[in-house]
Amino acid sequence: MSPDSRTSSPNDARTRTADIVILGAGVMGASIAFHLAKRRAGRIVVIDKGHVAQGGSGRSSALVRMHYSYAPEVQLALVSLRMFEHWRDTVGEEGDFRRTGFVRIVHPGETERLKQNVKMQRKLGVNVKLIDRVELKALEPDWAVDDVELAAYEPDSGYGDGAGVANDFLTRARELGVAYLSKTGALEFLVEAGRVSGISTDHGGITAPVVVSATGPWTGPLFQRVGIDLPIETEYHQVAILKNVPDMKGGGCACIDSVSATYFRSDAQDKFLIGDFYGQRGADPDHFPQRASDDGLEEIIERASRRVPKLENAEVMRGVTGIYDMTPDSRPLLGEISGVAGLYVCAGFSGMGFKISPAIGLVMSELLLDGRGKTVDISSFCPGRFAAGKPIKAEFEYKDD
Ligand SMILES: Cc1cc2nc3c(=O)[nH]c(=O)nc-3n(C[C@H](O)[C@H](O)[C@H](O)COP(=O)(O)OP(=O)(O)OC[C@H]3O[C@@H](n4cnc5c(N)ncnc54)[C@H](O)[C@@H]3O)c2cc1C
Repeated sequence: MSPDSRTSSPNDARTRTADIVILGAGVMGASIAFHLAKRRAGRIVVIDKGHVAQGGSGRSSALVRMHYSYAPEVQLALVSLRMFEHWRDTVGEEGDFRRTGFVRIVHPGETERLKQNVKMQRKLGVNVKLIDRVELKALEPDWAVDDVELAAYEPDSGYGDGAGVANDFLTRARELGVAYLSKTGALEFLVEAGRVSGISTDHGGITAPVVVSATGPWTGPLFQRVGIDLPIETEYHQVAILKNVPDMKGGGCACIDSVSATYFRSDAQDKFLIGDFYGQRGADPDHFPQRASDDGLEEIIERASRRVPKLENAEVMRGVTGIYDMTPDSRPLLGEISGVAGLYVCAGFSGMGFKISPAIGLVMSELLLDGRGKTVDISSFCPGRFAAGKPIKAEFEYKDD
């Protein structure tokens, strides 16, 4: 039977009550379930209104990089990289992580910030160095680099596969005893006297003292149903996948380039993936275009061609569309909801959750079982930070962080 088969329902005894219910089987819900199961945290039920990785996880460009301006994000990325690198030891599968290297190019006026951030990342143990345009050209001969004074280069980074990671985590979690219900949508949190007592679903209720919502871009409306406003907005994105022209170097570095406002990476040896920094706000995650528009793709290809001129002649193989769950400081909401004991949110990853998902599952499991994130301090990501006037702002943040 496939791991995604709906094997039981909330009306089965095994899933009618639980110690912890996790909503969402994307990379986050699956990772949390895996890490909780590893610690034998009791009866855990994961539900998804569709199937595993049907949200952003299955559409992710899945870049893996350590370059952040906020130290806890660097730590989360680094802890995750170690798991991607040792995927077989982590979940018993081969995994799809590809180490291509990663380059960060910032606006010309932000080189000082780049230097400071690289210094901070090196202190935290990241294998990263600054390279000048001559070294960058030697690394990536197809790139136009005349405008680059310095770039950050991470040889150990690359990209992975969101659907693969979510499936591997969930499969291993199920082997460790987690129950999984696909095609089971959470309707409303059950709240009594200031604490959560379970969840109603379209297949009956599940009683549980702890509920974790890892529901990506669907999170805002779910919490609104019980009068909780979380600052998560949806944002529509398009990604282009091109066939390399014959004389193009394949398998090259991934890159985030502030100058062209695009990110890009190789896709296997013969393809090239380009994504955009910006997208349209307010998309419905259940009803958005499944096909990227010709105009949208042309525009991002044109911008990326300024950095990689050979892309001008590359043919589009396909487009990918997807929805980000954005917060005001572009960082996730992680933690218990103030005033509702036992109700946790793990969402708002703002287009960057894939690369930190292994560590997020670990620190969320620590938060649930030990009362705090021990591997990485995640207290600054608490969901109440905006209401408290404490959005996250890194010391050397970039304009487009
Ligand atoms: C086009 C695109 C490109 C991206 N590129 C990158 C990248 O290069 N690097 C990177 O690190 N990140 C990237 N991301 C972001 C990353 O993919 C996401 O942050 C991550 O996948 C989020 O995972 P999640 O588990 O939080 O959410 P999702 O994968 O969206 O999963 C949420 C799940 O919750 C389920 N659900 C929702 N509501 C309910 C309900 N009421 N009841 C039950 N289940 C429910 C959904 O069915 C879904 O399966 C990208 C995202 C997109 C869309």
